[in-house]
Amino acid sequence: MPSPLRRVCVFCGSNLGDRPAYEQAARAMGRSLLERDLELVFGGGHVGLMGVVADTVLEGGGRVIGVIPRALEERELAHRGLTELRVVSSMHERKAMMENLSDAFIAMPGGIGTFEEILEILTWSQLEIHPKPSGLLNVEGYYDTLIALLDQAIDGGFMPASSLDSLYSGTDSGALLEACAVHPAGRASGAPG
Ligand code: AMP
Repeated sequence: MPSPLRRVCVFCGSNLGDRPAYEQAARAMGRSLLERDLELVFGGGHVGLMGVVADTVLEGGGRVIGVIPRALEERELAHRGLTELRVVSSMHERKAMMENLSDAFIAMPGGIGTFEEILEILTWSQLEIHPKPSGLLNVEGYYDTLIALLDQAIDGGFMPASSLDSLYSGTDSGALLEACAVHPAGRASGAPG
């Protein structure tokens, strides 16, 4: 059965991290997207895990859309071999466009850029700005502490447990994409073009 998802946004490190498992997981994510004929939306850089996911999808003949702010493009951080590179004027515009283009969002290991991106997507979900699912690819427990922090916010009365109804986590990229695909709003976006 074809996936109800069409485009998936992957947030991940602009560095490779210190464990081989991170890069391996980035390649596996690229292959999982290819197997399901899903387009990749990402931050448009050629560096770190971002570059690994993008290269894996491109090498397999898939489509990759990068969305990068002009300032980063000018610093020659943009990937030059993408299917499509959209250059925008600000980080805010970038995130809005990534949200708009995508049917689901996956965070892989990364730093504060990755955290900020996935948390903003979850915030927009909580505010019902979009109904789309998200996933944490918890490579070697990388996201255990974030999951604990989110649980602490629920236990502490700062957010309802339902705010995480659209968030999945797991160690297998294919299973995570399947969870997003069966989420009620997995293809509710009417993403343009
Ligand atoms: P970080 O996790 O701090 O390495 O930031 C990675 C996230 O921020 C990615 O998902 C990108 O969207 C964005 N980002 C950070 N650095 C770059 C870069 N050099 N080129 C393109 N995007 C970047």
